[in-house]
Amino acid sequence: MESTRDYYEVLGVSKDASASEIKKSYRKLAMKFHPDQNADDPGAEERFKELGEAYEVLSDEEKRAAYDRYGHAAFKAGGSGGGFGAGGFHDPMDIFSQVFGGAFGDFFGGGGPARSRDGRKRGSDLRYNLEITLEETASGVSKGLELEKYVACGTCGASGSKNEGGAQTCATCHGHGIVEQRMEGFGSIFRKQVACPACDGSGQEITDPCPDCRGQGRVEKMDRTQIEIPAGVDHGTRLRSSGNGDAGLRGGPSGDLHIVLHVKQHDVFDRRGEDLFCEVPVSFGTAALGGELDVPTLEGAASIKIPAGTQGGTIFRLRNRGIQDISRGRKGDLHVEVRVEVPTRLSSEQKEKLGAFTESIGEENSPMHESFLEKAKRFFNL
Ligand SMILES: [Zn+2]
Ligand SMILES: [Zn+2]
Repeated sequence: MESTRDYYEVLGVSKDASASEIKKSYRKLAMKFHPDQNADDPGAEERFKELGEAYEVLSDEEKRAAYDRYGHAAFKAGGSGGGFGAGGFHDPMDIFSQVFGGAFGDFFGGGGPARSRDGRKRGSDLRYNLEITLEETASGVSKGLELEKYVACGTCGASGSKNEGGAQTCATCHGHGIVEQRMEGFGSIFRKQVACPACDGSGQEITDPCPDCRGQGRVEKMDRTQIEIPAGVDHGTRLRSSGNGDAGLRGGPSGDLHIVLHVKQHDVFDRRGEDLFCEVPVSFGTAALGGELDVPTLEGAASIKIPAGTQGGTIFRLRNRGIQDISRGRKGDLHVEVRVEVPTRLSSEQKEKLGAFTESIGEENSPMHESFLEKAKRFFNL
């Protein structure tokens, strides 16, 4: 989005504002309109982008001079003068983290001073590792997950307050939700902004806290969540269950639940992409004479015809007996590799017959043996 509002107006500063005034104002407004803070206000994200764009221009001496001279035209495609071109703006998140430094990751999520005017705060995202079977990846499945998480407190209706309107501005942080802390490290002392410990970063103190949640508006408990896993998922697939993470602080929006799938090794099938692979034993007699062979598929047993003279290692492909592609819906194939079984326990009569049979066919009738002999001859220069 390219803002058409005056950049000075966006940042709430005068035309002759100093660089530090611009930075200060940006910091204040960017915190206020950060998307993590305003999950329930879609307008905030636009404001946040607009702020990033305005700050990017006004914080850069050269760009600011061009803007002062040509206005927004300096940054539009084909614009005269500035020549910064269109689409030259950075991700507003990048600008935000530049201004707030590397520690910005601590600001939101895990205990950071995320706050809003009414002391609400978004709940954390949660991760759940779920083991499923190959059959379940093929068909899709509905799973009930049990997990310990924060849920809205029923006693106070998630407000955290025993009585209605029982909140006041936090005396420790004066409602900012953040306090500065002196930190020592790398041989120097620096200041870091952390969540206000008195109000947990909400900026609001509950005067008469709910006894069940002690003013949090949420309680920890074992909760059951039903999730639908679509057909075609694979090992490592991540699914997001929106709003099924931790409940927010004092009625703030809930975080998300991220489900990471682990597919159990199957006894029969290996999966590669959407295709399945398996090995099936076939008797020497059936391989030589041809016949019907029972093979497993995910949908149950199937029968395939194998031609006479089938060699061990031959692969038969059963179309559309693999796994469904999750996005395109097309099904993979099943590849069945036949393993010719050599009998191990033979009676003396069977041994005699097999010996006679072997002698009778000789080696001329063995295509594999012939090609092996050819190679051996070349190798030994015979
Ligand atoms: Zn409560
Ligand atoms: Zn506070």
